[in-house]
Amino acid sequence: MCKSKKANEAAKQKPSKPIEEVEASCHEEEVVAKILSVEFLDGTDDKILGAEGKQFVNLPFEDKWVDGVDVLNKDRLGYKPRIKVKFDIAGAHSFKLKFVAEGTNAAFTEDEKTRNSKFKFQDKESSYSTKDDGSVIITDFFVSVAGDDVYSLSATDDKGTNVKSTGKIRTLRMFNYVEIKMKGLASIATSLSTVEGEYSTNFMKLKALPSVEMDHIENIGSSTTTFSTKAKTAYLTSDGTKNEPYTLAIGYTDHLAVKGSGKVLTKADVEVGPEKLEVNLKIAGAGDTNPAIRSKYLWKNIVTGEDWFVSCKFLKDGGDAVKDSVDIVKAKVKTVEVRTDMSCEVNIAVDHLPAGKGTLTLTVNWVDRMRGGLAIGSGNLICVCSRAWWQNVSTADQNQVIIHEMGHKVGMASKGTGILPEKISTYYDDTKGHVGPHCHNGIPDSQARFDNAADGALATCVMYGATSSKTAFCGVCKPIVRKLDVTSGWGRF
Ligand SMILES: [Zn+2]
Ligand SMILES: [Zn+2]
Repeated sequence: MCKSKKANEAAKQKPSKPIEEVEASCHEEEVVAKILSVEFLDGTDDKILGAEGKQFVNLPFEDKWVDGVDVLNKDRLGYKPRIKVKFDIAGAHSFKLKFVAEGTNAAFTEDEKTRNSKFKFQDKESSYSTKDDGSVIITDFFVSVAGDDVYSLSATDDKGTNVKSTGKIRTLRMFNYVEIKMKGLASIATSLSTVEGEYSTNFMKLKALPSVEMDHIENIGSSTTTFSTKAKTAYLTSDGTKNEPYTLAIGYTDHLAVKGSGKVLTKADVEVGPEKLEVNLKIAGAGDTNPAIRSKYLWKNIVTGEDWFVSCKFLKDGGDAVKDSVDIVKAKVKTVEVRTDMSCEVNIAVDHLPAGKGTLTLTVNWVDRMRGGLAIGSGNLICVCSRAWWQNVSTADQNQVIIHEMGHKVGMASKGTGILPEKISTYYDDTKGHVGPHCHNGIPDSQARFDNAADGALATCVMYGATSSKTAFCGVCKPIVRKLDVTSGWGRF
């Protein structure tokens, strides 16, 4: 800046001094503003981030998300980190600002960025100007909502002086979970460290809130209404509500069995009468979701008051179905059990019947399918069964199911629509197997379906549609999980 007016007045008072000299001294007094620093802020308008900071990009810039453990101050929240630029003197000085990607940041396709603007970061150098005091705080410079992206800052003033930030930010996502434990279950997972570990590996920090208890329900079938109602009663007493919409509720359940009612099995050419041996009948039927014939297990001791046995009849060859059909009571039909209550075959005593040959018809209720867990509706509830096939499910298996069901909640397996990243190459859904969006990595692409009995052993991803021992997102899913946008969280179930 040139104090030229004052200098010229001084010059008029001293005519002996050549005007040229006055002008020269004016030039000497001129001070050119110089950029001093560009930094991420870290808690106050004056405190800068001096090292690498975790940036929880999905959470809002609000005090309530500062926990003093992972989130030390509000500036580490959101995808628009506050940036402060300072010049050496007061006044409005223009400069250009840009992000510097410090790592291999997630690469988004044009299609992804078109569908979801939060997949973009401010990749252009932008012009700003300081306020009267020679500094400015910028709040509209944005990063993408992916995880593990690292950014620092670079700013350049009009004279070409460039400064870089001392600190940098590494992006992460965070959400909470609250366990809703059904009373009377001895088999609830004792630790979710595998779940937390897998999500941490994928740049999502999970925080446990204190668990709550809910009433016991013997089984959850195809309708989840009763379960949701009881689970909600418990959930409303939890801290989950205070952390919405960034809370997932995990309900632990007893059996998640779906009943097949009144299934009819027949066996022809059966010889009955005194001294005839018991007739063995395997319980098998056409699967509802797979054309392959599968063993079916009887609906035994799943729900109090619901029996597996409906009826058993014998009709001699050539007999009249109405007049000649003989009822065989349940006591004559013995289940063959693999373990307590688990049975997919029966032995039917026929030595009390008059001698003859004909057809046995057995009508039963069976287990159509057992689910390991469910991601219920679009709200924030998932559930995992702690008992399946009449026995306790291990903590390891419950962790696997929770990773899978949470996977659905965060958007996996992505089919590349809406706010989701691109579709995974190993995507399949109801049309080729299990209900919902899943990953068939490990199972040949050429297969007509991916829910064959042998497929579980081939699957390499936790997002495969049936329980397996896999607890990790596969190589196809992992880069997509990194990109997921969880800024909206989940509504209350
Ligand atoms: Zn699933
Ligand atoms: Zn996968």
